[in-house]
Amino acid sequence: MKYVVCVPDGCADEPHPDLGGRTPLEVADTPVLRALAARGEVGRAAVIPAGMPPGSDVGNLSILGFDPAEFHTGRAPIEAASLGLKLRADQVAYRCNLSTVDPDAGGPDGLMVDFAGGHPSTEAAAEVVAALDERFGRGAGEGLEFHPGVQYRHIMVAPKEWVDAECTPPHDLTDRPAVRPTGAVGDRLWDLMVASREVLAGFPEVGANQVWLWGQGFQPRLPSFAETYGLRAGMVTAVDLVRGLGVLTGMEVVDLPTATGWYDTDYEGKRDVALDALRDGADLFVIHVEATDEAGHAGNVEEKVRALENWDRRILSGLVEGLDAMGDWRLLLLPDHPTPLHLKTHTSDPVPYLLVDSRADGAGGVLTEPGVADRPVVDGHSLMRTLVEA
Ligand SMILES: [Zn+2]
Repeated sequence: MKYVVCVPDGCADEPHPDLGGRTPLEVADTPVLRALAARGEVGRAAVIPAGMPPGSDVGNLSILGFDPAEFHTGRAPIEAASLGLKLRADQVAYRCNLSTVDPDAGGPDGLMVDFAGGHPSTEAAAEVVAALDERFGRGAGEGLEFHPGVQYRHIMVAPKEWVDAECTPPHDLTDRPAVRPTGAVGDRLWDLMVASREVLAGFPEVGANQVWLWGQGFQPRLPSFAETYGLRAGMVTAVDLVRGLGVLTGMEVVDLPTATGWYDTDYEGKRDVALDALRDGADLFVIHVEATDEAGHAGNVEEKVRALENWDRRILSGLVEGLDAMGDWRLLLLPDHPTPLHLKTHTSDPVPYLLVDSRADGAGGVLTEPGVADRPVVDGHSLMRTLVEA
């Protein structure tokens, strides 16, 4: 038996006026997905437990079959793991966005213009992060460290007492007044964020003008996927956060340089590494694509629909053929949270899911938000058990 988990990040949505009051899942031309839903089982899953922030870290932890309420410590330490960083017990990790804030607009703390700092290249961003590390990090010798990640997404490591702050995720502030951190170290964090403008000013070719610190946490203690589920698992993703969950649960995370985390990602490449890994002995493989979430954050209706159509034409069609050639298989498809186009941010609402078993047809259904509206809501983290034990 082979298992595949497909994660179109943030694909769930709400009715949109530009789509005639329908959702991207309803509008997208996805014949393969429709056929799979018609022979499978659709339902609704709470991937974000009540009271937890609707982040991709929380949602993807659910999808991988671990209860976020039990295992989640914060977003940044998961991303730190993806960079190969091992936090000591006396260290806390913060996500360090290169962001664009207009200090003269919005409110007293400025206006959040772009949480992604104009999407700098990873190479250009690494130079900025090196300069930050020299000025405020290891160059300053006060226990802070700046570590480069991908594009606008980086990590700051700090002494453990820096954990006491309430920080606002910058993608929740797009086009809105920036909100400085509060709590015991809120002022220290804000001073650092403001001071970083001097360093960023030395890189005018990068669209970002300051760092934004948030998502802090200690190293989580996640059990291994293989020990928990008795299966050898692999994963492909362009997103550090998702990769970090793979690393922390002992999955084999495949490097695919053409996976970009953006609309132009290598859909066929992801499909092919999944099939290769399964042929080479993996029992389960996770395919994660970020494009739907990015389109949601951008409010880009066309790209969100296109990303779903790309899933259909460029991943699912070949994937089903490839799986059929290997024998029996089961497939689980669901997003890690909704990213409604009209809100440009995540919500905590339950998401539609699809389970398909090559050996037996299910009740069938329609994998859209209205199509599952009357289904009971199951815990998102229980679906992995359902997938692998049926
Ligand atoms: Zn997400």
